[in-house]
This record gives sequence, C-alpha cells and structure tokens, in this order.
Amino acid sequence: MHIAIIGAGLAGLVCAQRLQAQGHSIVVYERDNHVGGRMGTRQTELGGFDHGTQYFTASSERFRKEVAGWQKAGWVLPWQGRLAAIENGKAKPAGHADRHRRFVAVPGMAALGEHLAQGIDVRTGQNIRRVERYGEQWLLAVQSDTVPIDASAGPFDAVIVAAPADLARLLLQPVSTLAERIGEEHLAPCWALILSFEQALDLGYDGAWIKGSRLKWIARDTSKPMRRPGEHWIGHASPEWSEEHLHDDPERVKEKLLRAFHEATGSLVQPVFADVYCWRHAQATSTLPGDCLWDAAARIGACGDWFAAGLDGAGRAENAWLSASALADTAV
Ligand SMILES: Cc1cc2nc3c(=O)[nH]c(=O)nc-3n(C[C@H](O)[C@H](O)[C@H](O)COP(=O)(O)OP(=O)(O)OC[C@H]3O[C@@H](n4cnc5c(N)ncnc54)[C@H](O)[C@@H]3O)c2cc1C
Repeated sequence: MHIAIIGAGLAGLVCAQRLQAQGHSIVVYERDNHVGGRMGTRQTELGGFDHGTQYFTASSERFRKEVAGWQKAGWVLPWQGRLAAIENGKAKPAGHADRHRRFVAVPGMAALGEHLAQGIDVRTGQNIRRVERYGEQWLLAVQSDTVPIDASAGPFDAVIVAAPADLARLLLQPVSTLAERIGEEHLAPCWALILSFEQALDLGYDGAWIKGSRLKWIARDTSKPMRRPGEHWIGHASPEWSEEHLHDDPERVKEKLLRAFHEATGSLVQPVFADVYCWRHAQATSTLPGDCLWDAAARIGACGDWFAAGLDGAGRAENAWLSASALADTAV
C-alpha cells in the first residue's frame, strides 16, 4: 500500500519505520522544518537546549526492549540526574526518584527523531490542511512556503494522522466518523524557559518538581549525558499558568518565569542568556482508551501520545511509541 503519515514526531516516525519494514511505501508529511515534534532541541549560539521532552521512562516490556536497542545503537543513554521536590523554596530529595530509569537521546533529544527518520521519505515544511476522498483512495491538501496555493498530494491507499488530538480531530472530522471518538482529548500548552549561566549554580540537584509556583519543573540540561559543557537550565510552566498566559507577550512571560526560577531555587545569579518558547500542544490532559484509531474499510486512522495504550496515564513518549506500534500492527 502507498501510505501517507501526517506528523514526523515519535509516533509518526515509528509508524513509518514499521510499515516500511512490512513492505509498504510511505511518505511522511511534517509541518515543521525538522523532525521529532515535541522531542525537540532548541539550537542557540550557546548550544542546544532540550526545551520539550525532558527524559522518557519505559514501563512496558515492549518499550523497554526498544529502548535497550536504541541504547545499543548509541542513540540514548540513561540520565542519572539528582532529583528533588521543591515546596516553599525548600528542596528535598524526591523520594520516588529511583523508581524509574530515565533515558535521554544524545547529544540532544532531537537526535532520536533524526535517527528514526533515516531511510524514510519525510517531507518537512508541509502543513496538511485537509484530507480528501478520491474514489477509494485519499488525497492530501498541502500548504508549503514554496507554493502560494495548496498543492494536492497522492493518491494514497491509506492515511495515518500522527498529530496531537486537537489537530487530528480537525483533519478527520470532514472525512471520518473516527473524529467523534476523539471527544474532548486536549493537549494543554506549556511555556518553556531556557537559561544559560556563566557559572555553576551548585543547587545540589539536577532536576526538580516544584509545588506552588508558575514553574512546575526545572532541570539542569547540561547534567544530561554528552551535552556541551556549561550551565544550561530548562523550566516548564504549569499547564494552568501556560493556558492562562498563552497569548501574553513572550518578554513578559520570560520576566515572570525567570522570577519564579529565582524564587524556587533561592539563587539570585542572573543568566547570561534567557528565552522562552510556547508549546501550543504540550501534554495530554485526558486519555483516550485503547491503543489507536483505525477504520479498516476506509483505511484511515490516528495514533499518538494521547492514547492510553495500556499505560496508567497519557502524554508521554512511551504512549506515543506504543500507540504507533499498535497502529502499524493493525493497519496492514
Ligand atoms: C514541554 C514538554 C515536556 C515534555 N516532557 C516529557 C517527559 O519528560 N517525558 C515524556 O515521556 N514525555 C514528555 N513530553 C511529551 C512527549 O514529548 C510526547 O509524548 C511525544 O513526543 C509525542 O509524540 P507524538 O509523535 O505523539 O506527537 P508530536 O511530537 O507532537 O508529533 C506530531 C507532529 O505532527 C506535526 N503536525 C501536526 N499537525 C500537522 C499537520 N497538519 N501537517 C503536518 N504535520 C503536522 C507536528 O509538527 C509534530 O511534529 C513532553 C512534551 C512537552 C511539550
């Protein structure tokens, strides 16, 4: 089958790899100019900052096996960061920190998507605006910077939407009743703060969950393996604060999040570089039961981290991988 996959995040790339290995001909369309989606690394003159996914864990046997393979290939390494919980400006070692092994891609999170995209026909800078019926097949309406009007791509025998739930619903609604099953699954936004300091902050921890602050998580990015030396920190604002300040001026957001960083850490050292980035669709607020959606008659479906895929919650890299693997096993 000739199959189009919309989205070159972890789910789309894993699905593409698996289906291609089964002998199908695959084209992946990606809106951004790079692959990896929310598993991203922001490049600056000071080096990369992992401003999206911080690390991933593997609780299912299948994903553990896959991660072991990635580790063997040299794509990922365990992150042994010292983790803390901060409340009222006081940091305590996080009690549950050792329950999971945490992994990161090297030399930055974006590298995993780049490895997975090898050998796949991925077309970046291609925003899919509509999916349309063409007899028994499918066409895609593609918007790109190079062509002033939407171009048509296809025909394809099957289409897989590997995008966040809100975007998947919009694409599926006009052509498939699967859209009704998506319901209210929504991905909350997240403002990310990136900071670089001239000297080590010596806070005694490399990552911390924070209570009672605009920031819910901070991490010393340069404590992760194979990063460039330096003192880089990441902060993630809470979903509630990010939603409330979604349309604020980035400069104001930066000021507020930097203040929250100083309050939480008790460090008044000023960064030499600071910036913010808004993830419009960051983490799933609710879970769709099951592994994925697939309409076998029409050959259209969806996968991503918003499916439970046998895990307790949603919104993690493992959900995306399990969901994509399940769809690739189903869509043959
Ligand atoms: C700030 C932040 C922190 C996180 N921290 C963690 C963590 O610590 N641990 C963890 O396990 N997970 C974490 N996550 C979640 C993790 O990043 C995701 O679960 C995983 O990357 C989702 O992969 P995906 O392929 O389902 O979606 P995505 O990575 O979102 O990929 C979807 C892709 O589809 C593309 N796309 C969307 N619409 C279109 C269109 N119309 N046309 C073409 N392309 C389109 C997007 O550009 C994107 O590249 C975090 C996410 C964020 C944002």
